[in-house]
Amino acid sequence: KASTRLVVMGAAGVGKSSLISQFLYDKFNERYRETVEDLYHEEFEVNGGTVHLEVLDTSGSFSFPAMRKLSIASGNVFILVYGINNKNSFDEVVRLRNQILEQKKDQNPAIVIVGNKADLENDRQIEKDDVELLSYQWNIEHFETSAKNKTNIDRAFKEVLKRAKLP
Ligand code: GDP
Ligand code: MG
Repeated sequence: KASTRLVVMGAAGVGKSSLISQFLYDKFNERYRETVEDLYHEEFEVNGGTVHLEVLDTSGSFSFPAMRKLSIASGNVFILVYGINNKNSFDEVVRLRNQILEQKKDQNPAIVIVGNKADLENDRQIEKDDVELLSYQWNIEHFETSAKNKTNIDRAFKEVLKRAKLP
């Protein structure tokens, strides 16, 4: 059976766990619970066949560079998350993309960039147009989502699955 591992990365607090929870279970929690590392398993229908999807929810912590390296090594597809209300978290996405490309340069890994917390428009620090321009240059899809309002999440995850090179 085909198996794909999606790794969700990004700074702490941007909403990685919330996005996964909305995508898989239609649930949102206002409370913040720090993630160390969680692995989820789900079956999906893609092109008439069943795909086993593993979703790795990572810690955004900077204190585990070796763990981050292992997370990248284990993944086929990546969602890089920033908060539209947090400029630093976007800089982290840029760094993560560089690291993934460097570490997996022979494998042409599929990456999708997600700007979460789109419901916090009043606190916006990152312009959508700026990211769209960059992601166009990078040939990477970009979505603004809200895990709180369940906006655009299915689109972002389905895009990643579509881009995953299924074995
Ligand atoms: P993680 O550290 O990246 O896994 O972030 P979490 O998923 O744990 O979310 C961190 C905090 O942000 C929690 O309090 C969530 O309830 C909140 N949060 C997550 N997504 C959104 C969103 O789209 N909008 C708003 N307003 N809050 C969010
Ligand atoms: Mg988390």
